This record gives sequence, structure tokens and C-alpha cells, in this order.
Amino acid sequence: MPPFPSPTAIGIDIGGTKLCAAWVDRTGAILEHRSEPTSRQPAMLAAQILSLLQQLDRPPVAAIGIGVPGRVAPDRRTVLSGGYVDLTGFDLAGRLEQACGRPVVLDNDCTMALLGEMAVGGARGEADVAMLTIGTGIGGALVLNGEIVRGKAGAGQFGHVTVASPGEPCACGRRGCVETTSSGSALRRWIAEAGLDPSTTAQELFEREARGDAAARQVLHAWIGPLRLAIDSIVAAVDPSLVLLGGGLGEAAHRALRRLPAASPWFQCRVEAAMLGDRAGVIGCALTALDGASLRGVPERAMQGP
Ligand SMILES: [Zn+2]
Repeated sequence: MPPFPSPTAIGIDIGGTKLCAAWVDRTGAILEHRSEPTSRQPAMLAAQILSLLQQLDRPPVAAIGIGVPGRVAPDRRTVLSGGYVDLTGFDLAGRLEQACGRPVVLDNDCTMALLGEMAVGGARGEADVAMLTIGTGIGGALVLNGEIVRGKAGAGQFGHVTVASPGEPCACGRRGCVETTSSGSALRRWIAEAGLDPSTTAQELFEREARGDAAARQVLHAWIGPLRLAIDSIVAAVDPSLVLLGGGLGEAAHRALRRLPAASPWFQCRVEAAMLGDRAGVIGCALTALDGASLRGVPERAMQGP
């Protein structure tokens, strides 16, 4: 076992489809990584996470950070609501802390991804950033004046910006949220409705579109048009200097969005794919855990720039 100059941490990113775990050092480098399909039943998920932790645990691991989909209470230990994976009221942090004997920090998954991007990714040196993670659902997080915006608890739930009325039903109980039009699940629905092979990937849609395939172009437009509306609304509301698109489909959404610039000169904003890709979540989880807690908001080194 090589020596490590500083403590390390394990980041766990609970996605609607994929559960990712990474052993990360203080610079944000991933030393080891695991991913497997997510169990959606809370007790099974806890057992699955524990098994991953046992695989990655090493003497230098000082803490564990977990990103959960859904709204998280201000104490950063309690999940208030969930969507595809619902851990409402389930004491995941307490259970894992007891089992591992290491401090466990828990926060919203997109907040963790944004903290990762602020610390060692594409949001370094930025004070006002909105992030959306495009995966099974759509996560959201917001930094203003260098601090994560919490509101009462769940500020920045950008997946639930309304883009269609009445629209498809959403996990939040409303209809027409951008999660219902522009998530990975929604992309699969658009692909099915267009009569394309259900296994068609975003990359294949781009390739088909480049060959002049009208169905692929239509699917990409149906998927990304509402995301443009949501981003314009976010920019109108909070005027960030940067919108980051992360998650498994962040790159694809960014590429598809290039065809649809912001319509209003009032609400222009730079939109980029997350520099850390869909690993922003595990890196942010681990660095936040190493910082003791995210109570201080953005890590000091992020505020100082690269
Ligand atoms: Zn919703």
C-alpha cells in the first residue's frame, strides 16, 4: 500500500440508475472507482453502499460523503423527498456511520456535483453558477456569491421548472416539469414515440441526424427544446455567470443545446458541460466530506481560484 500524504475520502453518488463510489484524494483525483445498478429499495440500497464502502475502505479514508437525489434538510442528514430513488425519512447517514465508524456527510446529489466543479472543475473562480445534472431525472443546484443557495432546504430544484402545460406527470406531483421532457428517462420516451429502436443512444441520435435522419433530429429537438426554456427561466431568475450541465447526459445535452441559443438578449448566459463529467458527484461528495461538512458552503480553495 503506497503512503498518502493527506487524508482521503470516499464519495458515493446515488443516481436513479447507477450507483457510483470513488476513493478520492484531497486534490480531487480518483484513486479507485466502482459503479453498479442502483437498488431503489432503501434498506437494499444501504446494504449495497456498505458493500461498496467495504471494497474501497483503506486506512487513509477519513470520511464519507453521499449525494442523494431529492431535497435534503438543513442538517444535511435527513432526506425530505426523493424521485426515482426515494430515501425520505431513511437514516442512511446514521446507518453508514455506525457501520463504518467514519463521519458521513450527506447532501443533495447535484449540490455535491456543483461543489466538486467549484473545487476542482469548470466552476473554479466563478461566484454565481447554476448546475443541472441530466440523468434518470434532472437535479439542480445553485451557487450565488460563492455560497450554495439553500432556501428553507431544497432551493435549486431545477428539474422541476415548468416547461409544458399540462405536460407529463412528474414525481413531484405536478405536471410539465423539465424532468419530464429533458431527462434521460424522457429521452427514452421521445425515442420510443418516434418509433426508433429503444436502445438508441444520444450519440447514435447525433450520428443519425448528421446523416439527415429527420426522426433523430425531431427527437433531439423534443428533448432539448424544453431544457432551453428551463435554462432561460433560471437565468432570468438568478442571472448566473455560468450554467453547468452534468450527469450522464450532460455532454449530450450541451451538444444538443448548441442548436438552440437563448432567445432573449436579456437572458444570455454561458452554458458548459461539467468539466468533471458524471464524476463531479463522487468527487464533490468526497471533497465535501474531507472539508468536514458543507456547512461552510464553497471550499476555501475554490474561492481562491485555481
Ligand atoms: Zn416536478
